[in-house]
Amino acid sequence: MIDNEVTPAPGRHPGFPAGSELHTGRTYLVTGAARGIGRASAEVLLAHGATVAIADVDEEAVTTTAREIRALPVVLDVTSRASWEQARDVLTGEFGSRLAGLVNNAGITRDKTMSKMDDTMWDGVLDTHLRGTWLGCQVMRPLLAAPSIRDETGRPTVVTDAYGRPAGGAIVNTSSSGRHGSYGQTNYSAAKAGIVGLTKTIALEFARFGVRANCVSPGPVETGMTADVPDDVKAKWLDGLMLGRMGLPHEIGTATAFLLSPAASYITAQVLDVNGGEWHP
Ligand code: NAD
Repeated sequence: MIDNEVTPAPGRHPGFPAGSELHTGRTYLVTGAARGIGRASAEVLLAHGATVAIADVDEEAVTTTAREIRALPVVLDVTSRASWEQARDVLTGEFGSRLAGLVNNAGITRDKTMSKMDDTMWDGVLDTHLRGTWLGCQVMRPLLAAPSIRDETGRPTVVTDAYGRPAGGAIVNTSSSGRHGSYGQTNYSAAKAGIVGLTKTIALEFARFGVRANCVSPGPVETGMTADVPDDVKAKWLDGLMLGRMGLPHEIGTATAFLLSPAASYITAQVLDVNGGEWHP
């Protein structure tokens, strides 16, 4: 029996029952997972039987978190191709050449209104979100692609699952409700809107490898990223949300875990808004 009356610990979401085997035998990489939404996504996947590598540029934090949640730590700067290639080699060494899913979640904000934003702030945010997501999808694609084997005539044939579906992996990229426009965040809004276009094109190009690609698009979530936002700004956010509260990291993680799972096998090129019902974005 699921006890819906359980009071969650601060920052914890009680609504994902552990013990399902939806992700058993499957391996994942989640970026920006030393804390926040990335950590929570990794925890949801682990709770459902997955083996998870968590990657972050913050070496100390990712090592500690990995120990706490029992994941494999990977030091990765998503803005660097060389760093992605190193991460790919670590994964291949640990997990072999197959990855069931990649979550491009790492992110930063560098907010200023347009007249005060400088090149460093623009480049830093675009590099982390947009270039980082692009690089991750490109470098990890061979591990996500459905393997092919030679049939009796020697022709390569894509391996399929029990239902005849190409046995490829899935990608979840992280957009934001900020993609609709967000005061003081031209860099962030541009990057998050770009991630939607990037994901839809990747979905189109990677379909032939049996790889699905979707976006999760959170509304405001209680993490370090939003901790310093002034109360009056947060109050305005809540006014625009049907549920009238900020999201918890695991509420994004459950959506991500669904999109990665075989239960979402016919879903690709979509944006799943997880935002408490935004009604005036
Ligand atoms: P967070 O600040 O709590 O965590 C972000 C993590 O990304 C950190 O651990 C950080 O070290 C890591 N990171 C930053 N730059 C990196 C790099 N170059 N390489 C590797 N790791 C790097 O943030 P969060 O709130 O958990 O956000 C996670 C994602 O969700 C981000 O993409 C963010 O834009 C998005 N998002 C967050 C919210 C929100 O309200 N918190 C809303 C919409 C979207």
